[in-house]
Amino acid sequence: MVTPSFQPRTGLASSGQAQCLRCIMDTSAADISFDSQGFCNFCTDFIKRIEAFQPSNEAELARRLETLVSRVKAEGRGKQYDCIVGLSGGADSSYALYLAKEQGLRPLAVHMDNGWDSELAVHNIENVVRKLDVDLATHVIAWDEYKKLMQAFFDADVLDVEVLYDNAMLAVNYRLAKKHGVRWILGGTNLATEGMRMPADWNWFKYDKKNIRALARRSGIALDSFPAIGTIDFVIFRYARRINWTSFLDYVSYSKSEATALLTSKVNYRPYPYKHYESIFTRFYQGHILPVKFGIDKRKLHLSTLIMSGQMARDEALKVMERSPYPSDDALQEDIGYFLKKMSWRPEQLAEYLARPRISHALYGTEQPLWLGLEKLGRRTGLLKKTAS
Ligand SMILES: [Zn+2]
Repeated sequence: MVTPSFQPRTGLASSGQAQCLRCIMDTSAADISFDSQGFCNFCTDFIKRIEAFQPSNEAELARRLETLVSRVKAEGRGKQYDCIVGLSGGADSSYALYLAKEQGLRPLAVHMDNGWDSELAVHNIENVVRKLDVDLATHVIAWDEYKKLMQAFFDADVLDVEVLYDNAMLAVNYRLAKKHGVRWILGGTNLATEGMRMPADWNWFKYDKKNIRALARRSGIALDSFPAIGTIDFVIFRYARRINWTSFLDYVSYSKSEATALLTSKVNYRPYPYKHYESIFTRFYQGHILPVKFGIDKRKLHLSTLIMSGQMARDEALKVMERSPYPSDDALQEDIGYFLKKMSWRPEQLAEYLARPRISHALYGTEQPLWLGLEKLGRRTGLLKKTAS
């Protein structure tokens, strides 16, 4: 006898995968589930998060911003800076810096240079800090060291090569906050354009110092100028030093297009032709390595967020997905050439790498269980309301 099973109604992505009927997430995310209307857990959670966080009106939003700004000012009194703003050269972080200055804060801009900044990003960083009259601290990771670390990640066939950049960026921001006695790090992250939760198998835990060290050791690399941060370091920064990391753009009603227009006219900012143009590796990783080697296209998440925040129609997003992540084949070929030269690879090496199967980060050693354990303990004891993701 065949047991009738509940078959949720879903759409069908062009790839043949079951797809949400409200956003465009599909079964390429392993932890997706659908309700009886064919709506997925990602957009349903997003609505809940927006409702829980977003104030009901502009006046309340303005009050919330004012409260944060007064607190940052009060806690930074007598210090050279009262906050840190991480600057990638992209519109979000540039606007966060602009907003900090506009609110009368005294930010230190922090940039992490891993050798992959595009020329346009360098131009934007220079212009934004000069026009806003903000000090800039740039942490440069020796290219030779970073290149070897990237090679170690490629050799290990792990998913998230960007753990290297993200971990170093977190480390540098926290270290500089500690150095200057600053209690606030204002991030350019925001719910409106990137607030949908990342599927569990689309990236890796970013505070995984143990994993970075294990992969470095496996390839005989010493961490020298690479500023790694792990779970315990985070706990010390957050709870002993009481350094807060907050998504600053959630305190205003943020529109990326309006922010870009304002930055262009006020600080001589030059917009990017497409997403992640500020880092050549990030655009190559998201536009080529992730889809080809790992079957993951992060545009689904980004466009779904835009659909859910009313910034794009679902039909339009589906049309975008029919096109390649790169604006043209020439642009892709140019980045392939750049990548091969910079990593000293032959074209065959890239083909072999892309063809090899994925190996889990966890197989090489990870401190994620420690993080999850502490998070659980913190929630149970009420000490921890929210940790950085
Ligand atoms: Zn959905």
